[in-house]
Amino acid sequence: MEIFIPKETVPHERRAALVPDTAKKLCALGCKVVVESNAGNHSDFADSDYEAAGAQITTDRSAGLASADLVARVRKPPVSEVGSQKKGAMHMSFLDPFNEPELIGSLAAAGVTAVSLEMMPRTTLAQKMDAISSQANLAGYSAVIVACRRLSKIFPMMMTPAGTLSPAKVFVIGVGVAGLQAIATAKRLGARVTAFDTRAEALEQAESLGAKALRIDLGETGGTDQGYAKELTPEQLEKQRIEQAKVCAQSDIVITTAKLFGRKAPILITKDVVAKMTRGSVIVDLAAEGGGNVEGTIVHEEVITENGVRIVGLAPLECDVAQHASLMFSSNIVNFIEHFWDPEAKEMKFDLSDEILKSCVITHGGETVHERFKA
Ligand code: NAD
Repeated sequence: MEIFIPKETVPHERRAALVPDTAKKLCALGCKVVVESNAGNHSDFADSDYEAAGAQITTDRSAGLASADLVARVRKPPVSEVGSQKKGAMHMSFLDPFNEPELIGSLAAAGVTAVSLEMMPRTTLAQKMDAISSQANLAGYSAVIVACRRLSKIFPMMMTPAGTLSPAKVFVIGVGVAGLQAIATAKRLGARVTAFDTRAEALEQAESLGAKALRIDLGETGGTDQGYAKELTPEQLEKQRIEQAKVCAQSDIVITTAKLFGRKAPILITKDVVAKMTRGSVIVDLAAEGGGNVEGTIVHEEVITENGVRIVGLAPLECDVAQHASLMFSSNIVNFIEHFWDPEAKEMKFDLSDEILKSCVITHGGETVHERFKA
């Protein structure tokens, strides 16, 4: 099986879909691994590192796409490149399938088997292939580091002869994978952390990490069978905003992480709440690429409001630690390949009735096969 790793082309994207260590694993399985020259540049992997791992380097992207049985990348491919893959080949990446009907249509038309990493089921078996989680974990860490660098205060409490400095107050809204890592990182640095989530179990997890849980009675909230939060009603969201506003006003740092998979991110912090926050405080909006949780977020930018609050919309923040993000992403890819590997045939064995494949394969055999996207 021939695997091709093209260089990522989306601006701000620093990750590579495969790192030398995992390329070595695939070569050991019996795969031929071809990597586009400079694919690892922004995550600090040189072409020579891939070559030492057994991969081949090419400068001919079109040829790489055309001859591969599997193309793996981080970001969705441009529609213009889909036709370059051969019929029956596989494509794996984040595909943003809810917002990309044209792309899905062209993958189907090209006869490509397209795997959407976002659709990986949230089961124990598929956990090792879950790139949303592996990347969110690092984004949560980076959000705290980014905020820490911008805050003109220190995180830990410090008692010195010159006076006592109180610990930074961090408020984390959305305690999923990213939020939990943000809490853990902020606690390690000595901050006082408060957290809110619409899911009761998420608040218990926050408490177990030493955060104070903000409890707001929103009535029925719940989650989906995949562990995602359900969308709140406008009334519930309004109640949440009012209760949160008090905590925001007292916080040095607010980190928002509520993405609501497949839908536009909910606005959790409105302009009037930002206006009541103190000068020098920092908001990091991890949902910036999906529309943002904060009124005033501009994706890929940092904004300083009239009252001196900094809103950070830099994204994706996992790219700040691109080497580790690539390492985890590529492990997710290799775990997927290994899971379906047939050692005798030296290729992947495909049965679309498999629970994992049923969930993440969007197109196959010239058509859209995933129930949610057929229409
Ligand atoms: P996400 O990125 O969609 O959302 C982040 C968090 O924001 C979630 O905890 C969500 O409940 C919360 N949220 C949504 N709307 C909100 C609102 N209005 N106010 C405050 N918070 C809000 O979710 P995620 O982090 O990718 O995953 C959520 C959960 O899924 C995880 O905490 C975990 O329990 C579960 N999960 C399970 C597996 C598995 O079983 N393999 C893998 C990954 C995640």
